[in-house]
Amino acid sequence: MLRLKVLNETGDEGLGSAVAARIAEVYGFDVVVENGLVSSAEKAWNSQRRQYDAEKLVKHIHPGEPFVLILTGRDLYVEGLNFVFGYAPSPGGVLSIHRLKPSVEVGGFGRSLLLDRVLKEAVHEVGHLIGLRHCSAGSCVMSFSNSVDEVDLKSGELCERCRGRATFLLRQLHSR
Ligand SMILES: [Zn+2]
Ligand SMILES: [Zn+2]
Repeated sequence: MLRLKVLNETGDEGLGSAVAARIAEVYGFDVVVENGLVSSAEKAWNSQRRQYDAEKLVKHIHPGEPFVLILTGRDLYVEGLNFVFGYAPSPGGVLSIHRLKPSVEVGGFGRSLLLDRVLKEAVHEVGHLIGLRHCSAGSCVMSFSNSVDEVDLKSGELCERCRGRATFLLRQLHSR
């Protein structure tokens, strides 16, 4: 079975287990959660931008680990973009909850909205980890989201085409 580790930096254990369960459900990964911090994250800190370089952050993932998704509260960027929700060159990726947090907390609503967004973007980033590209179907979870509004508008599911492609890619990974 393909293994994936969620390195949960958020301090929110419930979020980590929800992400793990969703990744297992969609892709059939055997998912483990490790609650902790990326050991050398300070090397990815950009003091001018006051953001973390997502490329540098994923470079520090321990090699030998098959797939890793860092779940973080750090605000991320990649060169040329103001921010990114996530970044996932295989086999390591990162997803930030920093900009997915609802601006107003209304009872339990803020929590469920955050969870909804995080699960969508986790499925999206793990899609990249296995080799899926952005999808032009607006409702597909693999469509690119530039804002939280766009995240809210898309579904949490892979479209039929992406699902077929994911099945193919996962089969290839299994036979490696
Ligand atoms: Zn993407
Ligand atoms: Zn799609």
